[in-house]
Formats: sequence, C-alpha cells, structure tokens
Amino acid sequence: MTKYLSYLMIIVALIFIYDLRMKYQKQEIEIQALRMDLDHANKQISDMKQSIDIGTIICETITQSSNKIACFLSKILNVQIVKSTRKVEVTAYCDCKKCNGKHAGKTASGKCPQEVSDRTKGSIAADTRHYPFGTEIYIPGYGWGVVEDRGGAIKGPNKLDIFFDDHETVKHWGRQYVEVEIYRKASA
Ligand SMILES: [Zn+2]
Repeated sequence: MTKYLSYLMIIVALIFIYDLRMKYQKQEIEIQALRMDLDHANKQISDMKQSIDIGTIICETITQSSNKIACFLSKILNVQIVKSTRKVEVTAYCDCKKCNGKHAGKTASGKCPQEVSDRTKGSIAADTRHYPFGTEIYIPGYGWGVVEDRGGAIKGPNKLDIFFDDHETVKHWGRQYVEVEIYRKASA
C-alpha cells in the first residue's frame, strides 16, 4: 500500500513539475515577444531621431540661407534705415501766391509737391544738409512725409515745412512744435 502511495506521489510530483515547466515556457515566449516589441519601439525611436536630425539640418540651412540673402540684399542696396526722434518746428506751405515766395512750382528735388494721403507721402521741405532728399518723416497730425523740397527759411535740423493742397489748411496748421520720427537711409 505504501508502495502505491509512493508511486502516486511521484506521479503527482511529475505532473506538477510538467505543469510548472509548461508555465515557464509560456512565460519565456511572452518575454521573447515583449523583447521584440521593445526592439521595434527602439528602432522607431532611432528612426524618429534621424528624422529630427534631418529636420534640424534643414532648418539650419534655411536660416543660414535667409541670413545670406538678407546680407546680400543689404549689400546690393547698401543702405540701412536709421530711426530717430526730434522735437521740431513744423510750418506749412501750398502752391498759392502767398506761399510761392517760399518755394514756387516744382520742388527743389524736381518732383511735384503733394499733400499726404492714404496712398502717398506728403512733400516736406527741409534743410537737406540735415535731412537729405528721400528722408521719410512721420509728423503727428500730418502723417508720413518725405523730404523732397528746400526752403529759404527752412534751415537747420529743427525746422520742417509740410505741403498742403490749399492755403486754408496751411493757415489752419499754422506753426506747430511736434516730436517727429525721422527715418533716414544711411550707408551700411
Ligand atoms: Zn499757400
């Protein structure tokens, strides 16, 4: 009887070992599958890193190119815009007889004087030793103007004369002291 019991115990033990082994093998397979997933994920990460590197190189190249283009353009144009502000005396003139004593007909730069509008900058008379032709000036109450003219009484950096189409507006403007923004082109 003891002998049978021993056999039985051995069989039960064998079955138990077999079952453990099967479970172990199953886990081995799962671990293998997880490893493969991990490898796959690692590969994807390295691919992404490569794409990011390529993207970075492209960005750097674009930045370098645009810097080069900007450099090239400023060399061709050979100018840069310098902004300054100044409180100046601003008088006004038009094409009438009363104002003609100042600057008749065409402007000193040869252009027809024009009043400021949405589409055009107004003509400004200035001392071109301080404000060369082409200097753009923003005058509060008037708007954008460009130096295109000179005037006998307009001497020094603190006097500007702005153009209006009619004498009523000239009278209305009178003489104003305003802080203007000066944008002049300077050689780079
Ligand atoms: Zn006038």
